[in-house]
Amino acid sequence: MYICPVCGYNELDEKPYDLDGNPSYEICSCCGFEFGFDDDSEGESFESYRTKWLNKNAKWFREKKKKENWNLEEQLKNINIYFKNNK
Ligand SMILES: [Zn+2]
Repeated sequence: MYICPVCGYNELDEKPYDLDGNPSYEICSCCGFEFGFDDDSEGESFESYRTKWLNKNAKWFREKKKKENWNLEEQLKNINIYFKNNK
């Protein structure tokens, strides 16, 4: 299992990028980021994608995969982001 560099989800089936930097084209079940697509020439960075995703209440891309006790703040710690949800 691999960690999504955008949202910290730690159950990616494939490594987002191999050693040569080739993307997996996997879509993160949590934030919906597609490696090799969302980060292409348009220049969407992980940070800007993450910010938009958080602004949309961190909605899951595949809601079914969401665990009952899922905690956004805990997940973001996987990528060393300390996020405070003000709600
Ligand atoms: Zn993600």
